[in-house]
Amino acid sequence: MKKTKYIFVTGGVTSSLGKGIISASLAKLLQGRGFAVTIQKLDPYINVDPGTLNPYEHGECYVTEDGAETDLDLGHYERFSNTPTSQANNVTTGRIYQTVIEKERKGEFLGTTVQVIPHITDEIKRRIQLLGETGKYDFVITEIGGTVGDIESFPFIEAIRQMRWEMGKDCAVIHLTLVPYLSAAGELKTKPTQHSVKTMLEQGVQPDIIVCRTEHHLNESVRSKIAQFCNVELSSVIESIDAGSIYEVPLLMLEEKLDVEVLRKTNTAIPQHIDIENWKSFLNRLLNPLNTVTIALVGKYVELKDAYKSIHESLIHGGVANECTVNVKHVHSELIEGENLEDIFRDVDGILVAPGFGPRGIEGKISAIRYARENNIPFFGICLGMQCAVVEFSRNVLGYRDAHSSEMNPATSHPVIDLIPEQKNIENMGGTMRLGAYNCRLEAGSKAFELYGELLISERHRHRYEFNNEYRKAFIENGMHLSGINPENDLVEIIELSSHPWYIGVQFHPEFKSTVARPHPLFKGFIAASLQYQKSSGR
Ligand code: GLN
Repeated sequence: MKKTKYIFVTGGVTSSLGKGIISASLAKLLQGRGFAVTIQKLDPYINVDPGTLNPYEHGECYVTEDGAETDLDLGHYERFSNTPTSQANNVTTGRIYQTVIEKERKGEFLGTTVQVIPHITDEIKRRIQLLGETGKYDFVITEIGGTVGDIESFPFIEAIRQMRWEMGKDCAVIHLTLVPYLSAAGELKTKPTQHSVKTMLEQGVQPDIIVCRTEHHLNESVRSKIAQFCNVELSSVIESIDAGSIYEVPLLMLEEKLDVEVLRKTNTAIPQHIDIENWKSFLNRLLNPLNTVTIALVGKYVELKDAYKSIHESLIHGGVANECTVNVKHVHSELIEGENLEDIFRDVDGILVAPGFGPRGIEGKISAIRYARENNIPFFGICLGMQCAVVEFSRNVLGYRDAHSSEMNPATSHPVIDLIPEQKNIENMGGTMRLGAYNCRLEAGSKAFELYGELLISERHRHRYEFNNEYRKAFIENGMHLSGINPENDLVEIIELSSHPWYIGVQFHPEFKSTVARPHPLFKGFIAASLQYQKSSGR
């Protein structure tokens, strides 16, 4: 049973400073020094989870092993630390209130007035300590979403204040701020940082460490000014300079000794050795590629970088595994029309069709898949991308002209993708899809088996619709291999075309399981095939 220490990461001045990356980098460094670490994100919005949020609002919804629909920062945590997260690692204001209100309805507060303090703050503290109470972790790093001073983050800061008071040196607070550069004055400005620390002080929390996001190196005078005005030691002012890649950040934080400072502040003995060699070698390969491949990412949220976050990162991992840079060409599925396919895909080495919901842009996805199939271009379809491949094959190979997913056309005479009975009577939208990890048995001799190297795999899901098993025979007879099947419920999880150099569609989301330490075999294989295609087509 480990005695757990708690590290809080708050943000000031502006959002989007990269608290998630700083938290994940710190976790990586502490792991490297032999500590067991987990990271948690507390989000101050009222949705119970981000599952019902549109990607335009909040980017990708990341799914954990246990089927929680969570914030995309959890993806960074897993990719950096190579450790799975769970429902307990992402808690929103909505979930906190839901729990407290349910208790109130059951009469558990015995007639007392239920209030933000202590009832909401107690529930926040309970959720933070749940992870510590598992006894598995030396450190729980808790990232607070939003910016200090926001009305909605108040109860979270108050919970931190109380935990600091109760736990003393077993807690530390890291505050991430922006130190802007005014080019007219030629200076870095510390005032916004001073103000945001003052806001925290008004709420009773003195940060122990200040991480300064900056475009220029902090000189000694800037560092001392921040130390002096914000009541922190000089060594606790950490520079976080803009990096070309998020994967450089752990090493930048190592140089700045963020991990050592956290250990010092929490009275933890500092192990001298840090095991970070694998990370360095990944970074070295990332920064010194031998080749470049171009992958078309066909989706309907292409203007949004965060909507396909995990796919982007998995492509980077798959690229590094093949010593190459992956250049992503975003293709908006609504803009693909029959005539211009050749223009769009002429310069690409592989086509990935993204997950998604609803009919917008669906015909563009189907045309892209047809183009990849007929022109032997490596094709990778994920979730909706796989479902579109099933529709395309049904229409153009099996000859079912109006075949569709019943999500897009409930009146189709060939619902090749359809709801399974347990999804048919669902009314609530939140948390009711097929979510989280399920087993999948691979067929020996299939491409999927060759890539995974094992017969039984487990992958994460987030969808309602499935391959309609009534069409299995027609598919198999016409050359489509159903190479991955769920052994418990007999659902089709992987399709592949044996006559094609690399054509794989998966009903699950492999992008949620690719990490720096273990690039996903399907992404690795897809990039290898795209490199091969590039060479064979003489480009
Ligand atoms: N809309 C499809 C379904 O619900 C696919 C979902 C996805 O791509 N994540 O089955």
